[in-house]
Amino acid sequence: MIPYGRQDVQEDDVAAVVAALKSDFITQGPCIPAFEESVCNAVDSAHGVAVSSATAALHIACLALGLGRGDLLWTSPITFVASANVGHLCGADVDFVDIDPDTFNMSAASLAEKLQQAKQEGRLPKIIMPVHMCGQSADMEAIGQLAREHGISVVEDASHAIGGRFGNRPIGSCAHSDIAVFSFHPVKIVTTAEGGLATTQDAALAERMRLFRSHGVKRDPSSMEGDSDGAWYYQQVELGLNYRMTDIQAALGVSQMTRLEEYVARRNELAVRYDRLLADLPLERPGRIDAAVSAFHLYVVQVDAQKRRKIFDDLRRNGIGVNVHYIPVHTQPYWQNFGFQTGQFPNAEDYYSRAISIPLFPTMTEEEQDEVANRLSEALG
Ligand SMILES: *Cc1c(COP(=O)(O)O)cnc(C)c1O
Repeated sequence: MIPYGRQDVQEDDVAAVVAALKSDFITQGPCIPAFEESVCNAVDSAHGVAVSSATAALHIACLALGLGRGDLLWTSPITFVASANVGHLCGADVDFVDIDPDTFNMSAASLAEKLQQAKQEGRLPKIIMPVHMCGQSADMEAIGQLAREHGISVVEDASHAIGGRFGNRPIGSCAHSDIAVFSFHPVKIVTTAEGGLATTQDAALAERMRLFRSHGVKRDPSSMEGDSDGAWYYQQVELGLNYRMTDIQAALGVSQMTRLEEYVARRNELAVRYDRLLADLPLERPGRIDAAVSAFHLYVVQVDAQKRRKIFDDLRRNGIGVNVHYIPVHTQPYWQNFGFQTGQFPNAEDYYSRAISIPLFPTMTEEEQDEVANRLSEALG
């Protein structure tokens, strides 16, 4: 089976992990700040907070921005469920903004319209969370501008997008947002097995995210309320969690990050090659916007909705590990319990009915890619 995504773990990664295992600290040691620094350097960010997953990073991002009961978070219906779930985990309500059918990203035009309506109703969101679907940035200039006009915070779910750029700035530099979040799950661009990281240019937000990462507990006497009882003393000032990454994972991350540019370049080469191989087939290839350089986490083709299931099954049967990203979140039973209905976000639903993610990963060979294209051509009939 040619998988839709696959990690690339090399000998130097293994050596880095073994070294961390043999060191004095297998968690909360020197690899965590080293990993945070390597990501910050790569994406041009002042602060980075490494955690156990992107889900955890999205959660502490929302907590740090003060999202809570009575507040509202808006995200895209075409995302993994985690983007919406963190809103509910904070006690807030969640709503969705339909996608742009060309890019599968939150539509800035739909957002503008929905904001107008929400303003009239006196129910503006506290956080807007665009998702950089497949690794291509949403239109952050427009979304950031709209958010600023209405005094709304922006958290980028950049789980797919480390190494991507928007308007010649790296995703993660937060040029149009408060916080950006990356995932290091093995199918994503670089991996720590499980892991996530939030970047921000705001020192106070970074500090608050560090607090929520570790039980809401402070250990630095200078930032405590009142006096410290002694060197052992710690103080809990918020309700936090244990969302820490281990040094073992961070060691893998530091080693992987040395190949970020290589990975993204190779993914883009393969994507351009797919564009060429698939040009004459009866399908839609993914749309590009000039302002963005995609990290190409995923290559999604869209086929006739009536034939999608058969094409998908044919490909799987023939050893092509296709997948579908994503089932619109508002159609999930959990979210339907909160009153969301099928039909509410038609662009997202239409996209979902036709989407197939085909294999794309940096170690994929051209022979494997030809095999995917040939099998896809057969399946399309
Ligand atoms: C993978 C992913 C997440 C969750 O990442 P984890 O690291 O697995 O928690 C969230 N949002 C999107 C868009 C993702 O692709």
